[in-house]
Amino acid sequence: MAVVECPSCNKKISDKAKSCQHCDFNLGNASAEDIARQQDLRKYLKKQSIQTQSMVAMLLFVAGFGFMYWGGSAQQDLQYKLAVAVTIIGFVWYIVNRVRLVFLKRSD
Ligand SMILES: [Zn+2]
Repeated sequence: MAVVECPSCNKKISDKAKSCQHCDFNLGNASAEDIARQQDLRKYLKKQSIQTQSMVAMLLFVAGFGFMYWGGSAQQDLQYKLAVAVTIIGFVWYIVNRVRLVFLKRSD
């Protein structure tokens, strides 16, 4: 018995299994075309999720940045420190998602 990756959810399953125990993907009836379609779909959904995350990251960055400048709190205030943290998190998260997107595109 060998362990293979489920084409749908990428989790480890037995190659003897007729369907994936994690996501119920039917392996017995799946043709190469079905598997390719499933992988395309998964990649598409992953891309969508990364794009949504970079949108949220961008919003965090803008909100944090805006609060730092126009929030009216002094630099020693907790609100100001939180705004700085949110700005940094938003920025880093955004960059990480851009990089993930580049890698995802490269794997095509
Ligand atoms: Zn699966």
